[in-house]
Amino acid sequence: MSPTARPAERPGRVRRWAWMRPGADVPASLPFLVVMTMGLLSLALPPYQLQVWHLVAAAVLTAALLGIRAVAVRRVEWRWVGLVAPFGVFPLEALLRDASGAAQSGLSPLVAVPVVWLAVFGRRRDLWAASVFVALVFVSPILLVGGDRYPVGEWRRALLWTGLSVVIAPLLQRVVHRLEVETARSRAIAARLEGIFRGATLSALVTTDVDGRITSFGVGAEAQLGFSAAQVVGRELTDVCLERGELVAAARELGVEPGFAVLTRLAHQRAPSREWTLVRADGEPVFVRMAVTELRDDRDQVSGYLCVSIDSTDSIRSQRELTQAEERWRVLMDHLPDTTVIMVEERTGITVVTGAGVLVRRLRDGAGRRLAEIVDRETPGTLARILAHAFDGDEPAAVHADVDGAEHEFTASPLPSTGARRQALLMARDVSRERDRERTLLAAKKRAERLFDDAPQGIALLDRHGVVVQANPALRALLGDEVVAGRALSSYSLRPDDDSVDRHLRRVQDVDGHRSETQWTLRGPEGEELHVVLISTMLAGEGDGADRILTNVVDVSERYRYERQLAFLAEHDPLTGLANRRRFDQELRRHVEECLRYGPRGAVLMLDLDHFKAVNDTLGHATGDELIVDVARVLDQRMRSTDVVARLGGDEFAILLPHSDQKAAELVAASVVERVFALVRRHGDARSGVTVSIGGVVVEAAHQNASDLLSAADSAMYVAKESGRNRYCFLPPTDGAGTVITGR
Ligand code: GH3
Ligand code: MG
Repeated sequence: MSPTARPAERPGRVRRWAWMRPGADVPASLPFLVVMTMGLLSLALPPYQLQVWHLVAAAVLTAALLGIRAVAVRRVEWRWVGLVAPFGVFPLEALLRDASGAAQSGLSPLVAVPVVWLAVFGRRRDLWAASVFVALVFVSPILLVGGDRYPVGEWRRALLWTGLSVVIAPLLQRVVHRLEVETARSRAIAARLEGIFRGATLSALVTTDVDGRITSFGVGAEAQLGFSAAQVVGRELTDVCLERGELVAAARELGVEPGFAVLTRLAHQRAPSREWTLVRADGEPVFVRMAVTELRDDRDQVSGYLCVSIDSTDSIRSQRELTQAEERWRVLMDHLPDTTVIMVEERTGITVVTGAGVLVRRLRDGAGRRLAEIVDRETPGTLARILAHAFDGDEPAAVHADVDGAEHEFTASPLPSTGARRQALLMARDVSRERDRERTLLAAKKRAERLFDDAPQGIALLDRHGVVVQANPALRALLGDEVVAGRALSSYSLRPDDDSVDRHLRRVQDVDGHRSETQWTLRGPEGEELHVVLISTMLAGEGDGADRILTNVVDVSERYRYERQLAFLAEHDPLTGLANRRRFDQELRRHVEECLRYGPRGAVLMLDLDHFKAVNDTLGHATGDELIVDVARVLDQRMRSTDVVARLGGDEFAILLPHSDQKAAELVAASVVERVFALVRRHGDARSGVTVSIGGVVVEAAHQNASDLLSAADSAMYVAKESGRNRYCFLPPTDGAGTVITGR
């Protein structure tokens, strides 16, 4: 039965038998041994007549008792053996008393030894048994021996000792028992405190004396503050780890001297734990919650102080972070532009109002009031309705209403209810500017759509592959296709092999932001040739996110025709449509250059109508014009496509025959003279008098430039005129080898 094996056993019972357990009984056996030894030694002292057998018997008995005692000490379970030794003292006492003078023996008080011993270490019933033995020690010799050795008067001694063992010993036993219980309790408390000091690793336990000197420093304190108990025990607590500034502030708050008095005041006030900043051995701060309590002794006097601190660095840090986060959150909420955030509790009304909306001013003092009292006059019943939904935990609902003339969007969302209290969050957002923007955007979009639709020129939205995504009416009219979308723009090319649209679109896409212009000829609705200019720009990420190409299709057919006409007029005679002098000069120069390179060939004829002025004068200028046109047609019909026929001005014409020799040129000249004559002969007026005179020149090596040729032809023509008109004339070659040839 060890205390570790049976810790729950009552302390009294354990103590009662403790003397019989091994190890624990050595001190308890000492008085027994001392008394026994003293008793034996007393036998040798006068006036006792020591007899050897008495001594031997006492020694044997003592040895036997000691032996039994030794056995009892070793054999825990054999409890009765433990009792043999103290009870064995009684017969020993009787023997020693008898040996040392019987009734006269001075050893009678020795009988108290086992009684006192059993009172201290034994049980109540052992004490009763011991009392019986005491009575037997004194009464049995009177009865058995009697006589002088044990006279009857000895009954008083028997009564005295028996009475003492019956009355005093139990009292002693009770006192001892109480002491044992107290001691056990004190030890248990001490053990428990020790355990707490050792086991409290998460909290720091420090005790001080009344002056603030550390008396104990728990394991938790060592861990928390980084000091070892040996370093700090005996030092003043305030010097060891309390932060000076904080101590001074607390002293000012409590009205005491800065020092340990702060802690004693808190302990005296039984103040709850408070936050302290302690300084660790390494100088780092530790944020703790610390409580100080007074330790009182039996007389209820303060004997010291107990400081218990819990490291709350993490929680204090997170508390501070939480406070900062809350602060940030509040700043954020307070600056929510155009927005008012209202927390509403179903029964008590408004609980929180924040944000930077116009409603904040109106609601700021509205805590605890019903929302409807403040704003619902603009929105009668509406807010109450969406709030009711939110209190029921429904999805957020929104309504629009004007507040102070500005359109607001109210959204009520359910909040987690606290207990039976149902809450909702109402957000009021000024959406007037947003609405204005939306309206402006919508108007702009409509304008853009109208621009697209009403644009006089074709506009197409193409995808990257040139397929029409959207076409405006003008383009659809241009292409003659009601459903243009979905068809590649290039498919409208006039020529199937024309890839100008594809090249144009590639150029637009190759260079970011490139604006490309391309002329394109397409087939109109009637199959006619249309000339357009494509002007395209890239639109990145339009609508569905895909890139689009905006292409303007400008119909320039009219301009094209006009330009073509201008170009024609620049080189042609407007009356006859024949090449003009400028064009003829160009052609002639080109021919001369060819002749200079490849050798002379061809001929030039210069023509002038005879008596043409008379037509004008008699029949009018218009008839003169008609005649000029008729002559021009005659000339044009007679010539080959390689020949160049020109009207140089007035009634003057010129013909370049690039591949003719003189003979062929003469034939042409004769033919022209003949045909003009035939032409005018039909008329019965002044026109019939009109003929033509032609001067011809065959190109020679000597003709170095166009003007040489022209002046030569002009000279020949002059000769033809001079020779009577209505004829042609070729002057001889410049080398003189020939004659003037004239003919009709
Ligand atoms: P000749 O026989 O010597 O050639 O005399 P001609 O009457 O033909 O007169 P000439 O060649 O010297 O002058 C040509 C005339 O043609 C002068 C002018 O009045 C007339 N003329 C010039 N240009 C035009 C024109 O465009 N239309 C008309 N109707 N007459 C023109
Ligand atoms: Mg003339």
